[in-house]
Amino acid sequence: MSATPAYDLLAAGNLRLHHLGHLGAMAHWDQETHMPTRGAAARGAALAELAALLHRMHTEPALRERIERAEQEPLDDLQRANLREIRREWQIANVLPESLVQARSLAASRCEHAWRAQRHANDWEGFAENFADVLRIARQEADLLSQHQSVSKYDALIDRFEPGMTGAELDRLFGDLKQWLPPLILRVREHQARDTVVAPVGPFAASRQAALCERIARLLGFDFEAGRLDVSTHPFTGGAPEDVRLTTRYREDDFQQSLMGTVHETGHGCYEQNRPRELLGQPVSQARSMAIHESQSLAFEMQIGRSFAFAHLLAPLLAEAFGSQPAFEATNVHRLLTRVRAGLIRVDADELTYPAHVILRYEIERALIEGEIEIADIPALWDEKMMALLSLDTRGNFRDGPLQDVHWPSGMFGYFPCYTLGAMYAAQWTAVLLDLRPTLHEPLALVHGDLAQVFDWLRENIWSQGSRWTTAELAIRASGETLNPAHFRAHLERRYLA
Ligand SMILES: [Zn+2]
Repeated sequence: MSATPAYDLLAAGNLRLHHLGHLGAMAHWDQETHMPTRGAAARGAALAELAALLHRMHTEPALRERIERAEQEPLDDLQRANLREIRREWQIANVLPESLVQARSLAASRCEHAWRAQRHANDWEGFAENFADVLRIARQEADLLSQHQSVSKYDALIDRFEPGMTGAELDRLFGDLKQWLPPLILRVREHQARDTVVAPVGPFAASRQAALCERIARLLGFDFEAGRLDVSTHPFTGGAPEDVRLTTRYREDDFQQSLMGTVHETGHGCYEQNRPRELLGQPVSQARSMAIHESQSLAFEMQIGRSFAFAHLLAPLLAEAFGSQPAFEATNVHRLLTRVRAGLIRVDADELTYPAHVILRYEIERALIEGEIEIADIPALWDEKMMALLSLDTRGNFRDGPLQDVHWPSGMFGYFPCYTLGAMYAAQWTAVLLDLRPTLHEPLALVHGDLAQVFDWLRENIWSQGSRWTTAELAIRASGETLNPAHFRAHLERRYLA
């Protein structure tokens, strides 16, 4: 007989959850990519049923005793880390009643589905009606979780995506960023005004963009034998680690959106494909947190994807895909990829203005969850903050304002900060990498195949570690320190003012 019978039972239960989660992830991917409109209600019901089933399995009464017994068993370090994560998931699941979990899934499916047409129609009022349900349920959830964890309501929601992170810490990090970012944006814009940038001349056929995106994803290490790239309204990485589903979207007047979107999602995809295989199905194999996940997508999109070296790698591929033109000369490609221009859309934002979009959403959603503001207050706050942070007038433009992201319609409050935390971590990883491998500084390094060195470092330090360590421990092991935003600032100043 095994010396760890309770732990073994827990591990077997987690494997069952993993298999059912796999089907849910595929149904969700299909919902976003291929499902016809009239399938929406049935799919929403099916996913809500599955969410309820998974919740029942997560809250089985026998689990409490099983976890307590497993804690007394002779486990090795990895099993102990797994048990810590099992207990964490179990605690979160047990705070929420099944009826709330099911209602949350239904409200999110309904709101998100309607949101696609409402966004297109600039229909804020219509959206606000469905969104009221999503917010009401999120507030209930935040209330229950916060009572259980003795933290603020918003902190309880961030914890689902970024364990250990708090609103107070975000205020500190983002408060500092708000001081130095707007003047830096102005200085960079002045600095860049001297450069001539040749605009690419389209159209860029979607089929050619798709072929280029696939080629780049392959080059960046994505395994197409264990994943796909498709089209969705809002790009995401889904599926399961054994079968990762990336999505992007194509505009024939602009290839950069699909290309850099694909580079971003490929970073997420490589993390998923390289999680510890022997532990799949166990919570310890999961990605550490969403900020660490975004640190991978942003390491790809921002640190690698907008480097001079990458522009050199990309230039001939662009000419091959769309025909030669002056815009595809390497220096010009680099200028295109690093041009700073305040815009309305977060996912299209450049590296420098992106954090402003995140800070704005963080401030609004935190106040919304804490009950300091209501849905009707969002548009005016949005206008005010866009003007203050990026000097942009957004009045009346809901489509390119608060209706632009999928996060709120689907109830993902607490996610947005992870993007900027991820950008900070990505700069921290890159600083370590450049210390270890100074040749990566050279403009032609990537063309000569040095990407492998980057992937090796990420695989060893991040991907293969799953959730073995807390986020702070992971950061210390990889870089010798916890999150240090100074690396992000230094990176931006070096890249944009040098
Ligand atoms: Zn991402």
